[in-house]
Amino acid sequence: MRHKALLPILLLALIGLGISVALSRSLYLAESKTISIEFRAEIDQLASAFEREVVLNLEILHALKAAVNVMPEMNETRFRLMTRDILQRSPAIQAFAWAPVVPRENLESFELEQQVWSPGWLLTEREESGSLVPVVDRQWYVPVQYIEPLGQNRPALGFDLASEQSRLAALSLARDTGRMVATAGITLVQEAGNQQGFLVFAPLYRGEPENLEQRHDSHYGFLNGVFRVGELATQSVGLAVHDNVLFRVVDTTGEINHVLYSNVDPDEQRWLNTMVYQSFLPNIAGRSWIIEAMPAEAYITQRRGYLPGLVLVFGSLFVALLVIYSLVSLSRNRELQEAKQELEKMSLTDGLTGLANRRHFDTFLDREWLLARRQKKALALIMLDIDFFKAFNDEYGHPAGDACLQQVAQALQAVIHRPTDLLARYGGEEFAIVLPQTDNAEAVAEACRAAVEAIGIRHDFSRVAPVVTISVGVCTLAATTATDVDQLKIQADQALYLAKGAGRNTVAGC
Ligand code: GH3
Ligand code: MG
Ligand code: MG
Repeated sequence: MRHKALLPILLLALIGLGISVALSRSLYLAESKTISIEFRAEIDQLASAFEREVVLNLEILHALKAAVNVMPEMNETRFRLMTRDILQRSPAIQAFAWAPVVPRENLESFELEQQVWSPGWLLTEREESGSLVPVVDRQWYVPVQYIEPLGQNRPALGFDLASEQSRLAALSLARDTGRMVATAGITLVQEAGNQQGFLVFAPLYRGEPENLEQRHDSHYGFLNGVFRVGELATQSVGLAVHDNVLFRVVDTTGEINHVLYSNVDPDEQRWLNTMVYQSFLPNIAGRSWIIEAMPAEAYITQRRGYLPGLVLVFGSLFVALLVIYSLVSLSRNRELQEAKQELEKMSLTDGLTGLANRRHFDTFLDREWLLARRQKKALALIMLDIDFFKAFNDEYGHPAGDACLQQVAQALQAVIHRPTDLLARYGGEEFAIVLPQTDNAEAVAEACRAAVEAIGIRHDFSRVAPVVTISVGVCTLAATTATDVDQLKIQADQALYLAKGAGRNTVAGC
């Protein structure tokens, strides 16, 4: 009984908890989605700031090229004057270089010319071992003739840009298309932290060539810019990029992606690679660059609100309160039920039939016995029992049995009219009648039997009649000091037993 009542409460608690958890989780997921969208928007913004910075710096090279076109004759001083101010104001540009095209036949005279202002000037290229050596025989060369600022870049003077395959490819493309062409990332060894850089070649022509042939004929050299990727990033997004975000610039032009810049160590464990986001930059001097970004767990947690947690806590709290309330109600209900049973026990009436109950009967009989003894009168007791009532119950069901008990009680009540008499439900399907000062108790007993039979409640399973009948035992005893009330009860019961033995639906006396 107790467990049965607890089950719905348990179910309710589980459903309540389930709803709280589900609600909290869906809020959490919605929040994650919003954070992810915001993260992407932030990266897109940083990417465009970075791109603007790159374009701006490339524009400087462009402007320089336009200036050269006005006075193509270049010498060391002029080049220094042209670039000095710009270099001072543009930290992302590591160097500008002037590199003319020198055909094989002019190599010697070119070297001699340079040695006039810079003794020992020679065209060099890099050996496999890494050391600089004089150039081998080639059809044409693109030596760095002037470079600014000269100081730390002096070793680059005389270096033949056409001696390296990848640079030669970039130079040829620039010459043929007339556009600025960037190289892949290179490590700028003289820089702190080995930062990555890239070269951009701007082709120089005499006049304004319009097609490939004219470009070949009029081409005489290149203006080069050496750019620092780290500086470009610091200038544009340095302060804006969050500590808990990995921000990388990756060159994806070739088969292997090449990381040009990373704001923090990408090998740290904290980066959530499930949330990696790539923002594509427009073509940068012929190369494809992307911004690749990943947040750390801390970036996400800093942006989370309290709502999902609050929903879970308050949802669980609400469920807990509901459970406590239900348990308290349940226990109060049980107490009420017990109190009701207690009251019923104390009451004098039988709940089903409305007759006097057994308790009432016992006290009434004791009292009447004492009264009869004082008055030296007789007291009659009738015991009545429904025949084959178990079969009735079994066949027609308990509710029908209850209704039958009520009808029998009514019929008996109709027979008993004296206010001093007491009709009681003795127990189960047995009744008892106490008749003080009565001589004709047998007649009353017979009237009771006849009254029940007369109701005519159908009973196909009775072996004595087609309807419900009763057997009746009756006994009248003079109340004296020699007799007692138990004797009366025993004798009336024996009489009932006799009536049963005599075939039922009958009255027997003692
Ligand atoms: P007999 O003819 O010998 O009296 O047999 P019986 O079947 O009437 O007597 P028995 O004592 O075997 O069965 C009495 C039945 O009365 C058992 C029980 O099912 C039924 N009974 C007792 N109290 C109630 C009640 O309050 N309501 C209902 N519906 N049935 C009751
Ligand atoms: Mg019985
Ligand atoms: Mg019976």
